[in-house]
Amino acid sequence: MQNPLLDASNNDEAFEQTVRPKSIEEFIGQQKVLRNLSVFIQAAKKRGEALDHVILSGPPGLGKTTLAHIIAHEMGVQIKPTTGPVLEKPGDLAGMLTNLDEGDVIFIDEIHRLNPVIEEYLYSAMEDYKLDIVIDSGPNARSIQIDLNHFTLVGATTRKGLLTAPLRARFGIDMRLDYYDVELLQRIALRTAAILNMGITETGAHEIARRSRGTPRIVNKLLRRTRDFAQVEDMDTITDAIADKALNALDVDQNGFDEMDIRILRAIIENYSGGPVGLGTLGVAVGEDKGTIEEVYEPYLIKEGFLQRTPKGRIATRKAFQYLGVDPEQEAPG
Ligand code: ATP
Repeated sequence: MQNPLLDASNNDEAFEQTVRPKSIEEFIGQQKVLRNLSVFIQAAKKRGEALDHVILSGPPGLGKTTLAHIIAHEMGVQIKPTTGPVLEKPGDLAGMLTNLDEGDVIFIDEIHRLNPVIEEYLYSAMEDYKLDIVIDSGPNARSIQIDLNHFTLVGATTRKGLLTAPLRARFGIDMRLDYYDVELLQRIALRTAAILNMGITETGAHEIARRSRGTPRIVNKLLRRTRDFAQVEDMDTITDAIADKALNALDVDQNGFDEMDIRILRAIIENYSGGPVGLGTLGVAVGEDKGTIEEVYEPYLIKEGFLQRTPKGRIATRKAFQYLGVDPEQEAPG
């Protein structure tokens, strides 16, 4: 189960198409990543070659898909998107790779979820632009080699640690996206509002930015929901007051935490005296998939200093105790 605020299916395609930055210039933040990427793209273009394969990692909603599209746009090529779990059979991969034009980008989201068999096929495709496919079975089985056009594989993952070493080694460009600070998120809110013709004050944008967990996708999502509240009250401009009202109604607290964040902290503190507690146990305690806790919730709680990951398990910090108004001495283990 995904965090509803992060679920891309809640963002309809038309909205995405309208607000998604299309070029490096339009992309806000991640300056170091963009500077390097821009050099690699210019160099590849000068050499008349396909860009080296790129792996983009980082928590959900920070712009990996957006960057994949920008790479294709800046290289002046087509992008063919897919996701790891969709590529079930070697034929699925062959179908995609043989349909690429010279220099095209194939974008594989959730690349850590690739079927290992498909991954094996990818190795030679990425390295030599050749695909060795076995056709037929039993005594008639034979391998044929297909030459592919040169292409760039852009892989995106929230869990780079799950990629196998041979696959990781085949990406020449490795980029990690980090959470955005409030000032950048405020700019993203103002940009999206301008594109959608919404009135918004600087402080209104700041209020939404401050409570968006460092994540552009959440900024856009909360902006749309706040607009609903403003419209119902016949306000044509989003102010900090209406943003605050909307976000409170949506159970997004002053730190940007939602119900699940709070449930996680509460479980560690109240059920396990502040930890350490194993991820699996924590998942059962809060009724959430442990992978989702690890990929979606934990990184932000850790970044904000509410949670620590230790070899023995998860620990709630002093800040988490204070946040929930619990005295750490009373709950201290042992
Ligand atoms: P996931 O891993 O969950 O698929 P993602 O990292 O691929 O997420 P995107 O889908 O690229 O994230 O971005 C989420 C939303 O945030 C999009 O609507 C996109 O337009 C917006 N967005 C992302 N990064 C930026 C940015 N730097 N500036 C402006 N808008 C951004």
